[in-house]
Amino acid sequence: MRYDVLIIGGGPVGNYLANLLGDDGFRVAVVERKGAFGGKACTGVIGAKNFKRLGFPEEAILNELKGAIFYSRIQSFEVGRPTTQAYVVDRRTLERRLAEEAVAKGVDYYMSTSFIGFKEGRAIVQRPGERMEVEASFYVGADGVNSTVAKSIGTTSQAEFLTGYEVEVLGSFEPDKVEVWVNKDVNPDFFFWVAPISEKIARVGTFGSLRAFRDFLRIKGLKETSAVEYKAGTIGLGWRKPWVRGNVALLGDAALQIKPTTGGGIVFGAFCAHALRKAINNGDLSQYEKLCREIKKQVSFGLKLRKAFRELSQDDIERIFEVLGSREGIEVIESQAEFDDHFKTAKAIIKRPKLLARLIRISPGLIRYLL
Ligand SMILES: Cc1cc2nc3c(=O)[nH]c(=O)nc-3n(C[C@H](O)[C@H](O)[C@H](O)COP(=O)(O)OP(=O)(O)OC[C@H]3O[C@@H](n4cnc5c(N)ncnc54)[C@H](O)[C@@H]3O)c2cc1C
Repeated sequence: MRYDVLIIGGGPVGNYLANLLGDDGFRVAVVERKGAFGGKACTGVIGAKNFKRLGFPEEAILNELKGAIFYSRIQSFEVGRPTTQAYVVDRRTLERRLAEEAVAKGVDYYMSTSFIGFKEGRAIVQRPGERMEVEASFYVGADGVNSTVAKSIGTTSQAEFLTGYEVEVLGSFEPDKVEVWVNKDVNPDFFFWVAPISEKIARVGTFGSLRAFRDFLRIKGLKETSAVEYKAGTIGLGWRKPWVRGNVALLGDAALQIKPTTGGGIVFGAFCAHALRKAINNGDLSQYEKLCREIKKQVSFGLKLRKAFRELSQDDIERIFEVLGSREGIEVIESQAEFDDHFKTAKAIIKRPKLLARLIRISPGLIRYLL
């Protein structure tokens, strides 16, 4: 079998690229290991501006979020806007709808089909009952954080790999606000999130230890036995290099195109899909990484923030909360924060002399990273 492009992995990012290349008239195939879409651990929070900009399917939207409540060990503050800032989406619908649209554009899908490796320039894939060889001009590894394609082309990773735990649990929630809990005494590795789907159901999770996750559920007064879904998954925060070798490119989580501050990867992966589409259209994959420079900048900045977070004590975090939760802090966040652009958000905060002076006193290191 021969294609222009073989995409390995039919997750949200692989399916998104399949659509872009389907529009361009390429002969494209997607191989997906699972027999059905969805099932991955993912809260499905996507910034509203980029959701629209990227043209994701609206049928996938489960809930709209207009604000956030930030909690530390001893205090909290709230930010919000009148308009929707982020959506909580259903992963299965997102992946499936993108795949349906791609099929309608002529893309071939091979479900229950696993990529095994490359042999003499061809991809070896295992389907139920048969092993096939697929030849393509370009191969794209969109096969997630534990990418087999990345291993096959001999990439190296300098990254922090974290396990995430998430439940969909019954309780009582503010339906249009996400809760973000930062308490290093309970979880030194990451924050906790409570992303409501409705007044009665929310996705609650964190990255780090299972024990920290369970402690948080207890603190929140949520019963593990009131969870109707329980999932775990991995994210990788850092770099996997290179993203291109010969006619093979990595995309999405396979390339660790993940926001280090939140663990979100759908938007960064989709933006890089546009870059990869351009490189494929130009017949030159070597342009791809350069075309992803904006995402690389965001990842690089996020890694610095992550390093700063690692170095902060909970007492430092309490003092940072006092600054961000002040009238001026809230005003800057509400007027200038961008869901997927933490670089812009941080710049807006440190442009305010009073906020900057207070933050320098708490953590000169943090400001050094931000600058
Ligand atoms: C607990 C948790 C919460 C998260 N919450 C969010 C969130 O709120 N917002 C957000 O943007 N991101 C979130 N993420 C990250 C998000 O899930 C990923 O960034 C996103 O799934 C990346 O999409 P992808 O298509 O690159 O990879 P994946 O979604 O991992 O898809 C890869 C696909 O490749 C297939 N595959 C793997 N190996 C092979 C093979 N050998 N052959 C064929 N197919 C193969 C897999 O079956 C899978 O379908 C979260 C992650 C975790 C763990």
